[in-house]
Parts: sequence; C-alpha cells; structure tokens
Amino acid sequence: MNFENSLAFAKKLDSSDSLQSFREKYFIPQVNGKEALYFTGNSLGLQPKSVLSALQTELEDWKNLGVEGHFHGKNPWFHYHKFLTNGAALVVGAKPIEVVVMNQLTSNLHFLFVSFYRPNQQRFKIIMEAGAFPSDMYLVESQVKFHGFNPNEAIVEVKPREGEHTLRHQDILDTIEAHKDELALVFFSGVQYYSGQVFNIKEITEKGHACGAVVGFDLAHAAGNIELKLNEWNVDFAAWCSYKYLNSGPGGVAGAFVHEKYAKDSSLPRFAGWWGHDEQERFKMLKGFVPEEGAAGWQLSNAPVFSMAVHREALHLFEAAGMSALTEKGKNLNAYLQFVIEEAMKHNAILNFKIITPAYPERGCQISLLTDDNGKMIFDYLTQNGVIADWRNPNVIRLAPVPMYNTYQDIYTFGALLMNYK
Ligand SMILES: *Cc1c(COP(=O)(O)O)cnc(C)c1O
Repeated sequence: MNFENSLAFAKKLDSSDSLQSFREKYFIPQVNGKEALYFTGNSLGLQPKSVLSALQTELEDWKNLGVEGHFHGKNPWFHYHKFLTNGAALVVGAKPIEVVVMNQLTSNLHFLFVSFYRPNQQRFKIIMEAGAFPSDMYLVESQVKFHGFNPNEAIVEVKPREGEHTLRHQDILDTIEAHKDELALVFFSGVQYYSGQVFNIKEITEKGHACGAVVGFDLAHAAGNIELKLNEWNVDFAAWCSYKYLNSGPGGVAGAFVHEKYAKDSSLPRFAGWWGHDEQERFKMLKGFVPEEGAAGWQLSNAPVFSMAVHREALHLFEAAGMSALTEKGKNLNAYLQFVIEEAMKHNAILNFKIITPAYPERGCQISLLTDDNGKMIFDYLTQNGVIADWRNPNVIRLAPVPMYNTYQDIYTFGALLMNYK
C-alpha cells in the first residue's frame, strides 16, 4: 500500500476499516481531557466495556446463590473454564482439547516443564533466546537446577550477531543442529518482547523435533497479536498471559496448550490437582489421580471466576473480529507507523531512531525504536502529549498499535508529534 502522511489519508483508511466498530467496545484512557494515543496494548490491553456487567453477573450469583452458584448460577462456576476454551483455541490455532485457561503464565510454564522438560545425562540442554523476558530466564534456570544440572552447561542461548539486534532464523536452526545430541528442549518466545521480532514457530518446531527435542513456546507477546497455528505446527506445549494483547485485565488468568498427541497420555508426569482430575469423579474425593483428557488434565485449582469472566468477554471480541482480519489490519497499522516515523525523521533532524523490529512477516503489532541520547527526552515529550508508550532501558521505545482499538489517525497524530519535536 502507498501511504500518505496526511490526516485526510489516515481518516480515509479508518473509514474503510472493517474493524472500525471495535474501538467503541473498549474504554480508551484519557490524557489532558483527550483520548490517549494508546500504544501499550502489548503490555496491558484496554478494558472491554462489557466487562463490568459480566462481573456483575457473577457477583449477583454469588450474592444470591452462595455456593449453589457452582451448579445453579447463570454460568455455573464448576464448568467456568470451559466457557473460555473455544475462544482461547481460536486465538492460538488449536483444537479445544488442546487448550485450557488456568493459573498465570509463569506458573503454567513451570507445570508444563514438569511434563515436557525431562532431562537425562545424555539429553539435558535447553535452547532459548538470549535476552529473554526475565521470568523466562528464571523459569529455565530454576528448572535446570531443580533437575540437578548446571545452568551454565544446560542453557544454550541464541544471540544476535555482533552489531545486530535481532536473531537470524538460520542461526536458531543451526544452534539446534549443533546441540542435537544433548538437546532436551527448545523453548522460545513466539514474539520477542524487546525487539518485537516474530519467530518462525513452525520451522523452529520442525527443526527441534528433527533433532530429537521437545519444543515449547512462551506466547505472551504472540497470543492475540499474530496468527498462530499451534496444532498444525505440531508445537508440543505453550502458554500465554491474557492481559497483554488479549485485553483481559492486570494479572488476568492465563492460557496453556498441550498438543493433542498427548491428550490421552496419562503416563506423562505432572503436578496434579483436583481440577485436572477426571471430572466425573472429581467430587468422589477418591485417592489415585486420573487426569482429564487433553490440556484440561493439567489444571490444579478451581476456576478463578472473576478473572475468567473478564477474559471471556475479551475473547468474545476476538471471536467476533477473527484473527485473520485482526492480523491484516495490525500489519497495515504497523507499516503505517514505520512510514510516519521515517517521514518525521526526514523532516526533523533531531530525530535519530533505528527501527530494530524486522519487517513483516517477522513483525507483529510492535515497533521497537532504538534511540540515541535524546531518546528519553523524546519519550517524555510524547508522554506529555498524550502518547502512552513504553520505555525500556537502556534506550528503546516500544510502540504497539493494535488492530482492536487503534486507528490510522492515532498513527498519523503520533507522526505529527514527532515531526514537531524541538
Ligand atoms: C509478560 C511476560 C511474562 C509475564 O509472566 P507472568 O507470569 O504473567 O507475570 C512472562 N514471559 C514473557 C515472555 C512475557 O512477555
């Protein structure tokens, strides 16, 4: 598409946007009495307006029914996690039996590692990206130690080459190949949180399997952002949070995926709880854990209904919009963002950014700008002028316009602010 740096052009794109009605379904934060340019949907997505009444429904049932709400509520709490399964499956490209909504992201990863990181003296290594999100670094380090291995030997990080900011796909594949005789697990993010780089999940998975490893992903920055096909790509396991691109509120309940090939495998070791036990027998309170089939068999605790009520509303909007329409618009929005940033740099010599996020298809809804020493001042200027973006030390501004509620006009206005920075 040929972009133009004008308000009229941005408005024209908005008026022909098939998803334009979705913005009204969210609360947009205000700054200085005006709607903010909200570019942190990768960090905490905005609140769907329907959340309040969904929560009220559950509060009313609790108020009026007490414990009876488990079976006689409008949305019986006993089954509440099941109300989210189809929506979560759609977002990650899975079959319903492969997904469950439960716990929090890092907890889910630990529980999945229990089943899928099974090191032995021969195969104990984990390959991951260097500079992973800290929780993932701690997760992997502590899992390795838990199994009695030395993190310095067991963890192999794939790093950007000298002078580069993102990973070369071929370097990832070559690293897997190089460690294939000792490899237990390949564990990557789907989208790198700092650089916004989208990894090729399909090929990483194929390569990992060809080298005898299990392959899992942290999809925190991928779920609700890029189109995923976890079932088709044969990913072994994955987990994601719901509060970033999935707009389900701070600390909201998370998701987990276990490929259907493990659905009936009750021999996999796991840390069990009553909610993962065969549902027909759950209240018999018997000894001897019998897992539910599929990802549901990894549940431990009963459903956190209030958080799930929020997530359910948010997922309905993803079902209504559809991931392919969302990713198509997201791709255009972010391409337009790159365009207005480059236009601003042409006209305003103070601006000295380097876009470190690779181009589509290695890009989702995020552009990371590497800045010079002026970076923090420019960021503060943007903040004062109604931009909600994200500063990452030492010198990156992350901008994440999302297709659900951001507009082309948001992007144009952002470009105009950069243009006018003095
Ligand atoms: C946001 C994020 C997390 C956060 O983990 P929580 O358990 O939800 O606090 C973990 N890993 C990655 C890659 C993230 O982007």
